[in-house]
Amino acid sequence: MNLKKSPIVILIFSLFLALSACASSSTAPDKPSTTPTITATPTITLAPTPLPTQPLAEPSTFTLTHLDVGQGDAALIACDGHYMLIDGGDTGCSNQMYSYLKRNGISYLDIVVASHAHVDHVGGLSGALNYAKAGLVLCPVTEYDTDAFCDFAKYAGKNGPGISVPKKGDIYALGSASITVLGLNAGEGNDSSIILSVTYQDRVFLFTGDAEREAEQAVLADCPELLAAYGLKVGHHGSADATTYPFLREIMPKIAVISCGAGNPYGHPTDNTLSRLRDAEVTVYRTDLHGDITIAFDGSEWSVTTQKSASEEDIFTPGEDFNFVPDTGDNSDDVTRGDGGDNGNEDSGNTAGMDYIANKNTKKFHYPGCNSVKKMKESNKKFFYDVTRDYMIEQGYDPCGNCDP
Ligand SMILES: [Zn+2]
Ligand SMILES: [Zn+2]
Repeated sequence: MNLKKSPIVILIFSLFLALSACASSSTAPDKPSTTPTITATPTITLAPTPLPTQPLAEPSTFTLTHLDVGQGDAALIACDGHYMLIDGGDTGCSNQMYSYLKRNGISYLDIVVASHAHVDHVGGLSGALNYAKAGLVLCPVTEYDTDAFCDFAKYAGKNGPGISVPKKGDIYALGSASITVLGLNAGEGNDSSIILSVTYQDRVFLFTGDAEREAEQAVLADCPELLAAYGLKVGHHGSADATTYPFLREIMPKIAVISCGAGNPYGHPTDNTLSRLRDAEVTVYRTDLHGDITIAFDGSEWSVTTQKSASEEDIFTPGEDFNFVPDTGDNSDDVTRGDGGDNGNEDSGNTAGMDYIANKNTKKFHYPGCNSVKKMKESNKKFFYDVTRDYMIEQGYDPCGNCDP
């Protein structure tokens, strides 16, 4: 039907008014008429032109905050009154995410991205989605067998439309910024991460989740021309297998943000990654040293602000590898590591690649981000890497009731 034929439109509208009048003798159209009684009428809700949410006079603004969530990732982007959250830190960060959004009056997130299913990325999204409603929730998978993921999926459905898996090349608007999905599901575990770019004016920010070599190679083969970026969220908390030279050479970022926990037992960020960033003359920020890191455009100029300051020397000092964690125990058995690398053994079940810290005394095991771990005596800690939950239970450990590993 051609709506330009205005007589038809007028006819339909008149018919509708007539029907409205028949349905209730006291209703009135939304324009003044001879009928004196004005009561609520459904015609109002049918007005076809919603007003723009942003007054046009407002200058366009952009804020990207890398939140300090300990060993995990979380970044909030605000653009022209629209919001996007990429990851939410570990389960222990749920309260932090909830209160952060509440404090800042952010009750609607246009887009929520879980870069991949690991707990240090989806854990805190439950808290975020418990406070804020979401217009779109993206993740490379819709199912993953951990309590943290099930919680995330539950809130994604309760306060949003449920999880959707984006496609390579998808583009979304966030105010005047645009989000482009460059790759996802290039491999298992970390390499399933969604790699996306956020473009605002002439600046591009690249987010890689925990993508490592395999995912980097896939996106390099697919769309190297789309990788150039001003800002890089460094992959996998600065692990050695991420941010490879060929990848970094295409991006050539001016600034890079490493999201990792102070004193994390994985040695993040590693010397290799820091050296590559230093060679590429990138200004590096670290959440473990700087706290929250905010990159913003206020309508006239750009700024980078951090919660805490850190010396150049500290920034380029790598994390201490968990293999060298001082150990007061009897032998090297206190560090247990599977041999399947960061993504775990093929046969080690759904939680392979998870890392746990157990208390030798209480025989409980926790996610590294759990509050109980912060209070635990160093001498009571036992580190496990690339083992499954079942393995921990077989070893006689009970899952912590708080972080629920
Ligand atoms: Zn991670
Ligand atoms: Zn991961």
